[in-house]
Amino acid sequence: MPQLQRIVVAPQQIQGQQIRLNPEQIHYLLRVLRLKVGDRFVAMDGQGHSWLATLIETAASTPIRAEVLDSLVSHTELPVMTTLVMALPRGTGFDEVVRQVTELGVSTIAPVISDRTLLHPGPQKLERWRRIAQEAAEQSERQIVPTILEPTPLVKYLKASHTPALKYICITRQSAPHLLTCLHPLPRSPHPIQIAIGPEGGWTAGEIEQAIAAGYQPVSLGSRILRAVTAPIVALSLVAALYETGNDRVVEN
Ligand code: SAH
Repeated sequence: MPQLQRIVVAPQQIQGQQIRLNPEQIHYLLRVLRLKVGDRFVAMDGQGHSWLATLIETAASTPIRAEVLDSLVSHTELPVMTTLVMALPRGTGFDEVVRQVTELGVSTIAPVISDRTLLHPGPQKLERWRRIAQEAAEQSERQIVPTILEPTPLVKYLKASHTPALKYICITRQSAPHLLTCLHPLPRSPHPIQIAIGPEGGWTAGEIEQAIAAGYQPVSLGSRILRAVTAPIVALSLVAALYETGNDRVVEN
């Protein structure tokens, strides 16, 4: 299919064959993307469904609507649900992390506040990260928009997360097996994966102990110390590369 513009709609906006676009979406489609009546685009609900749609003109009070032409099946999700548990880095570093791990296929991002975290974000930050994730998911033609959880103190997050998963905490300056060797061998239906990355100052010894007690295995990402904002990209790239090789998927481009 030729490259079509993609927008995220709420599931309740899909009503039978019609998509009830809100004024913001109409503005975006007509003014920003410069689509016209009859043009096609892809509507995705961020939860795994997407539709080929076209803009139609109606006589009703909302003159522009969208009609569903077809539902689309695509395979741009990782075959394993992957959560990034990340101590918030300084400044705006997390914006780029959200964008890039979304491109790489992350399912959930859990920002945590650790002992050495310097950033204590306000509620606008969460909104901003969710918007960035949505844009990145559209850009990367994903079927889901990753969930971004509310920032939580690490200890609280560890206590609250009971879902069975393969859990890894990335650590520096101590010997630990490489993440890649821990992810082998691949089961047929893999468990979700959780990967925890520390802040610029690293995890404290106590935090690593608590994570181990909560079922996390300490792992390395290689022999060099990576910046806090680089480490999640490396970790997600390893997961994606490992789980996507040997798959029969054909990437159309
Ligand atoms: N200041 C710390 C490094 C912190 S790097 C030090 O000097 O040791 C920030 C985070 O990135 C770390 O907490 C860890 O989770 C991750 N990280 C960076 N490089 C890594 C590596 N080579 N192996 C595993 N984790 C790494």
